[in-house]
This record gives sequence, structure tokens and C-alpha cells, in this order.
Amino acid sequence: MNILVTGGAGYIGSHTVRALQKAGHTPVVLDNLSRGHVESLPAGVEFINMDIADPALVNLLKEKQIDGVMHFAAHSQVGESMVNPMIYYENNVVGSFRLIESVRQAGVKYFVFSSTAAVYGEPEEVPIKEDARLAPTNVYGRTKLMIEQMLQDYSNIYGLRYVALRYFNAAGADNSGEIGEDHTPETHLIPLILEAALGKRPNITIFGTDYDTADGTCVRDYIHVNDLASAHILSMEYLRDGGESNYFNLGSGNGFSVKEIVDTTKAVTGIDFSVAIGERRAGDPGTLIASSEKAQTILGWKPVHSDVMQVIKDAWQWHQGHPNGYKA
Ligand code: UDP
Repeated sequence: MNILVTGGAGYIGSHTVRALQKAGHTPVVLDNLSRGHVESLPAGVEFINMDIADPALVNLLKEKQIDGVMHFAAHSQVGESMVNPMIYYENNVVGSFRLIESVRQAGVKYFVFSSTAAVYGEPEEVPIKEDARLAPTNVYGRTKLMIEQMLQDYSNIYGLRYVALRYFNAAGADNSGEIGEDHTPETHLIPLILEAALGKRPNITIFGTDYDTADGTCVRDYIHVNDLASAHILSMEYLRDGGESNYFNLGSGNGFSVKEIVDTTKAVTGIDFSVAIGERRAGDPGTLIASSEKAQTILGWKPVHSDVMQVIKDAWQWHQGHPNGYKA
């Protein structure tokens, strides 16, 4: 299939582009490089520097004979969304609306959307199933939920078929060591810990030790970026093979506390970096663990890289080889 990958130069997008090539599909990357890295793209992939909101996209989708769109391009930091919501509404909500409308006008049939566990907010039950209450606790999660709702309307009324994938905590890197996570500023736990291990920051700060969890720190479900990549391909193939519009959680089903991640990283790196205790971060639920049974049953998806030790090892390989990310 010819697949347009928005945000294909970003963290999860770039891993999916490689997986698409390996699976025999033809990815076309669309990215405005506001946060992505063109260096993350493999040789031979077509790259178009364009914004998702650009109306020229209608013709592009037709010219390239695009069968389906994978939509990764978004702002994705919870903390930033609570300080600067404007860019989340502009880029995520308005930008995605423009993109989805271009998809409709061009007659593209299939759409796979990067959603998030943040659509659930503080869960009433864990592991979280897809029919759980949707009550995001931050602007980022709200913008993703709005886009899911938009897709549902376009599906019901215009017949666009879509899959929304609600990721838990994306982590790790391709085990080639060639691509990995490079955000500016970095806000995610595992890369920040690895920067502390590399001596690039004085310590890692644990945000809150008074949560209702076994050791008082937040529990999250870390899922390897290559397991997310495979889920996107299975979702696109599911739509191609007649699957109806649907949404799935993607997680490993295992929860690890911030303290456990810190300790595991010390074990993987062999470095005893310093750890500070800080206040809770606004908008953080205590425990988020996925039930991914639905994706396993309907898509035939299986996370195979998401052992937490492996996730951290792969991330460490990338960070050691690229201490300044994609910058030389
Ligand atoms: N976290 C932390 N210190 C940091 C960054 C994150 O203690 O410097 C915690 C954060 O509060 C959350 C977990 O690590 O409980 C994962 O945060 P991250 O930002 O990686 O992902 P999120 O869960 O927000 O998607």
C-alpha cells in the first residue's frame, strides 16, 4: 500500500516508516520538521516538507495515489499543553481537522491515528480497557480525544474508516542503534534518566512519592516503539481487509513505578547517577496500565520487544551512540 505518514520524521513515526518499508509497503513522509529530524529517515523514502493543514495536501494525496494515512504529527507533551494550550488546539485539533478534511476530499479510504492513554485520565479500574470512562486530565489528552470524536463523525457520516491507537508510554529505540528518541526539550522519563546516566544532567527528579502505589511513585506501562510500529501496520492492513472503524489500547500490560525504572536503568547502565525527589507534576494520574486484549484479539498484535529491561537497553544503546541526538 502507499501510505502517507504525517510526522514520519518524529520518534514513533520514524520507527514506523522503517517497519513499513520492511513489510513491503511504500511510505511517503510528510513532516514540517517543527519537531522531527530528517536524519531519522531511511534511504530511499520520499520526504515532503509540508504542514498537515496545507490545502495542497488534497492534490498530493491524489498524485501519490495514497491508500491510507498514518497520522503521527502532533504536539505530545502533557506539561507543555497545560502551559501553552493554544499550540495544542492549533496544531493538534485544527491541523488534524484540516488533514482529515483533505483525506475526505481526496477520497483516501483508511486512516490510522496516534491517540493516547491520556484520553482516559485517572482510571476507575486498571488494567484499562477501551470501554473505560474518557475523562482526560490535561489539554494534550483532550485534544487527542477531540480528534478521535472528529474521526468517528467522519466515519459515521462520510464513510472514512479509521483506527485510533491509544498508546501508553512509548519508549525504547530500534535495536540497529540508528534511530531513537530526540525531543527538545526532553520531558520523558527514560530519556531523562539516561541523560543523567550520561552526566548530561546532574540528576533525575522523581515527580511525587505520595501516590497510592506500592512505593508511592507513579506506575506506567512502557511499550517498545517497535511494538507500536507493528500495531500501525496491522491496523492499516485490518482496514484494507474490510475491518470497521475501531480503537485499541497499546501497552505491555505490565506496570512499573518511576522508582523501578530508575533502579532498572542503574542496573542496565551500571551507573549510579543521583536521584532527587520532587513535587507531583500537574495532570499526572497515579497508575496507567493497559489491557491490550482487544488489539491482540482483533488485530493479532503481540508486543514482542516490550520487556522493560530490553526497552531500556535499546534506549541506552541509542543514547550512548547519539548523546546529542541527531545533532552531530
Ligand atoms: N517522571 C518523573 N520525572 C521526570 C519525568 C517523568 O518522575 O523527570 C514521571 C512522570 O511523573 C510519570 C512518569 O515518569 O509518572 C512517566 O512520565 P513521562 O513524561 O515519561 O510520560 P507520560 O506518562 O507523561 O506520558
